[in-house]
Amino acid sequence: MLKQIIQKGDSILHNTVKKVAVKEIISTKIKNIIHDMSAALRNNTTGIGIAAPQIGIPLAIFLVSEEAMQNNISEEEAKNKNWSHMVFINPKLIKGSKKKVLLTEGCLSIDGVFGKVKRSRQVMVEAYDERGKKFSVGASGLFSQVLQHELDHLDGILFIDKAERLEKVNVSENKNK
Ligand code: ZN
Repeated sequence: MLKQIIQKGDSILHNTVKKVAVKEIISTKIKNIIHDMSAALRNNTTGIGIAAPQIGIPLAIFLVSEEAMQNNISEEEAKNKNWSHMVFINPKLIKGSKKKVLLTEGCLSIDGVFGKVKRSRQVMVEAYDERGKKFSVGASGLFSQVLQHELDHLDGILFIDKAERLEKVNVSENKNK
């Protein structure tokens, strides 16, 4: 069954998460959680990232759509692609550039609201993938922003907690995370 995205107001979005035991990463339980997260993300056409607490699971897992790593892609093109989802388990911020940028941000758990949030221009994140293999990745642009947004989710922080300005919109022109 398709999991609903938990909306703002639910305390699970503000709780911290537990790490996944490394030997459990390849278990059916974790595989099913990743599958549910992926399906929920795919069901939201504006979504490019999702964290486990957003489907009610207090574990250190998030997914980022490959779409966040593309540059200069049209809305039409983006919509029609069957993007794959990169899995981050027990992710850790290794490095964040001191250089910050003020970026527009939205969240699947906060419908119709966008805000300006200061984010590091570049980050380096270390995590385990769905096969239990450790990796690290450097990111800039939208990918960097999504990683910071999802890391915040695992710390129980929503973008509205740190946004400088909030804006209500009817139609979402921006990507959600
Ligand atoms: Zn979010």
